[in-house]
Amino acid sequence: MIIVSACLAGFNTRYDRTNCGHPEIMEMVVSGKAIPLCPEQLGGLPTPRPAISFVNGDGNELIKGAGGVSAVGVDGIDYSQNLLNGTNEVLRIAKMFNIKKAILKDGSPSCGVFKVWVNGEKVEGCGVTTALLKKNGIMIEALE
Ligand code: SF4
Repeated sequence: MIIVSACLAGFNTRYDRTNCGHPEIMEMVVSGKAIPLCPEQLGGLPTPRPAISFVNGDGNELIKGAGGVSAVGVDGIDYSQNLLNGTNEVLRIAKMFNIKKAILKDGSPSCGVFKVWVNGEKVEGCGVTTALLKKNGIMIEALE
């Protein structure tokens, strides 16, 4: 069993209530091989919601509690705690099902694997969920 970003499985969980479904990921869910999760919804955020990006660092730095690093919406509100809460819920589920691998949506402040938005630019870095799952020994693959 693996975890996949819910939007990759065709669920309209993205900030703008769209998805980026991939047929092979949807098939994995249908056949019981993957659990679709959206960390931002698990963190209590609505859908649709303001697009969120990082200030002064990425998900790795946010989970470490680095000073001055936050995840802020286009509405100017700091959603860092929602992202952290959702990520902790994903980790709880991962432990419950003894998950060893996740396929996550790149570019997201939660699920990003190689690239995230920091200070208005798409740069190398990872999302909060990717950072925490990796720290707990879970292998991460990325899909756009
Ligand atoms: S990328 Fe992650 S946080 Fe964003 S909608 Fe998809 S599952 Fe949710």
